Order: sequence, then structure tokens, then C-alpha cells
Amino acid sequence: MTTIAPTKRETLPNLFDLSLADMERLLAEWGQPAYRARQIFRQLYVNLVETPLAMTDLPLALRERLVAETRLEPLTPKQVQTADNGLTRKALFQLPSGALVESVLMIYPDRATVCVSTQAGCGMGCVFCATGTLGLLRNLSPGEMVAQVVWAAREMRRFASGRQPAQTPRLPEDDAWWMPDDPENDAPSAPQISSASRLTNIVFMGMGEPFANYDRWWRAVEIIHDPRGLNMGARSMTVSTVGLVPGIRRLAREALPINLAISLHAPNDDLRSALMPVNRRYPLAALLDATRDYLAATGRRVSFEYVLLQGKNDEPEHAAKLAALLRGEAGPAGLPLHLVHVNLIPWNPVPGMPLGRSERRRVLTFQRILRERGIACTVRVERGVTIAAACGQLAGTLNAER
Ligand code: SAH
Ligand code: SF4
Repeated sequence: MTTIAPTKRETLPNLFDLSLADMERLLAEWGQPAYRARQIFRQLYVNLVETPLAMTDLPLALRERLVAETRLEPLTPKQVQTADNGLTRKALFQLPSGALVESVLMIYPDRATVCVSTQAGCGMGCVFCATGTLGLLRNLSPGEMVAQVVWAAREMRRFASGRQPAQTPRLPEDDAWWMPDDPENDAPSAPQISSASRLTNIVFMGMGEPFANYDRWWRAVEIIHDPRGLNMGARSMTVSTVGLVPGIRRLAREALPINLAISLHAPNDDLRSALMPVNRRYPLAALLDATRDYLAATGRRVSFEYVLLQGKNDEPEHAAKLAALLRGEAGPAGLPLHLVHVNLIPWNPVPGMPLGRSERRRVLTFQRILRERGIACTVRVERGVTIAAACGQLAGTLNAER
């Protein structure tokens, strides 16, 4: 086996890895005043420049030194695919190591959300997830996460300046999950014009398990949040976890109020362990315990994601059991229901997996049962299914190239 030694460029600092304080330290080492670091930060995250040479408020010598002694990676996607009339855009980034990661930008009538990857591949092995089939290739650095957000911010700038026709697409009839009478379900029932002009939301729901890469992920969050840069509010960011209890407990103590989504997918331990091996390490009782403490500490709403797999976890009994679990009628103490929301996600088919997407009728029955028992519940319809850009599909291109 041959190992690839890092080239000299790969050992240079990636500017996207640096907080403003880190950048000030670097510039101090270079004998530069602190305000230069603020200028660079602003150029990167407000002006969204693609190269230090374009930072025209810096002296030329400093710009050249930045080009020679730092890097900005990954900056350009290897490939961008679009769907839904250009309102869904998936980027494939090649990392210097050769690993590939994907990000998805979804433009809605009044907002724009980017779905960010936190690892190349994922080691958690959920049986319904395309990323899971890859295993963990490697953790992403903070800069590799920040760069995905910068890509999306640039796409939005292009979108807004081009004034592209921004009709919200109609989904094909057989994918018509929305109920016209239920505006809460997250899907368009009629074409609308998008007035979104900038990136407004970030979800860490791409490839990988964020809490398995917690420290780097959190550094990325802080850089993305910095008001002197991208200035994304903590409440506009959501992290999704497979259910790593230590991560949930840690998030509860953080100063920034990032939103939390927890992948549940089953109402009992046997089924959950069969779908998600992580449940053997952190079974439902431990997960609900951590969630209860999180809710008590933060007072913020949590959403539970529940992927519906035809005939596996989508029967009325599963819905009733799930309601009982959350209400505390099934053993472990219940949760404060006003802080709980269940998001039903019809499974996005992954080629080769012996699983099926629940029929619409079953999805709606499941939703009704939860609602009747006092649990807020919506159905999420994924964007970009045709370009394999929906949750859990991020790995298609990767697999194809391997
Ligand atoms: N690792 C984290 C975040 C990334 S996955 C987690 O598991 O929560 C984001 C969401 O997509 C999770 O709820 C995951 O269960 C779900 N998902 C995975 N594969 C899917 C698929 N094929 N169809 C629909 N949702 C899927
Ligand atoms: Fe990893 Fe999330 Fe996929 Fe599970 S669902 S394998 S945790 S990315």
C-alpha cells in the first residue's frame, strides 16, 4: 500500500480554520497590526473574496504573503448539480486527501438553508443511510465546514444578483406528500416567488455525525457565528445527532443557543438497535434522560427526526408507542411536550437497500396518531431527491467513483 505524504501546501494554515483571535495571533507573528486580521476576516466572510489577492484594502506584499504561506480550502466544488428549478444545489468538494464531501443549498420563498457535512463518511452504520455505508473516512476540519457555508453564501449572492426566476417547484404527483389543508407540513402547495437574498439558515445534517467530531464542529460554529464575519445567529443553526448522549449534554452547557434535532426512528430499543447500532451504546432511556436534562437546562425546543420505513417502523402501533414514550407512559419519565416536536421524514430510497419509502397514507396516519396524543408533528419533504441531495443520500457520487 502506498501512503500519500502531504504536499507542502497541505501543511500551510487554512484561513477558514482560524477564528478572528487565531488570525490576530498569526498576523502578530508576521509583525502586522491586529486590524489587518479584522480586514482579512471581513474580506473572507463579508465580501466573500475567493483569493487574498482580491483583498484590496491590504498592502500588496501582505496579500502575496497570504497567497504564499496560507491556503483557502476547499474553495471550489468539483461539481455542482441543481434540481427543483435551481432552488436546490448540491456541491461536491474534493478534499486535498482525496476524500469527497457534499453540501446542499435549499432556497425557499423567504429563506435559504445550507446542509453542511461534518465528516467524510460516517462510522455510525445506520442501516438506511447512504453515508453510513461508507464508514468513517475522516473528520472534517473546522475550515472544511466553514468553507461549505462560504460556498453557500456565495451561491446566494449569485442567485440574488442574477434575479433568477425563483418559482418554488411543484413536486411530482407521486411525491405529493404535502396536504394543501395543512400549511405546517414543510412542502410547497403552490408555486411561490423566492425573495431570499442571502443565506439565512445552517443545518448540520449532511454527511457525518457532528457529535463524533464535536471539538472541530464547535470551532466551526463559533467562526460561522462571529458577528464580524458571516454573522449567522445561533438560533438559525441546527445540529442533528444520531443520539450521542455526551454531545447532547455538552451542547446543553454551551453559551450559544444552537437548535438540536435528535434522530429517533424507533419507539423501542430492539427496533432502534436494529436500525441504528449506536442504540446499543446509548439506549432510549439514556437518550431521553439526556434530552430531559437538555430541555430543563436550555428551555429550547428539541425536534425528533423519525425516518419512515415502509413496514418496519411506520405502523400505527409504532406511532402509539412513540407517543407513549414521549409522554412518559412507557417506563422512562416523559418530556415536557410543549418543547417537543416530531419531524416525520419519508425515507429517501438509496439504491441497493432492501427498504421502502412509506406510502403517503401511512405517513399521514402516523402523523394523526401523534397529534391526537398531543405531540406536535410535521412531515418533512426532502428537496433534491432527483440529484440525491436529500438527507441520507449524500454519498451517491462518492460510491459511484470508488
Ligand atoms: N448523523 C446525524 C446527522 C446527519 S443525517 C444524524 O444521523 O442525525 C441527517 C438526518 O437524515 C438524520 O435524521 C438521518 O437519520 C436522516 N437520514 C439518513 N438517511 C436517510 C434517508 N435515506 N432518507 C431520509 N432520511 C435519512
Ligand atoms: Fe451517520 Fe447520521 Fe447516516 Fe447514521 S444517519 S450513518 S449517524 S450520517
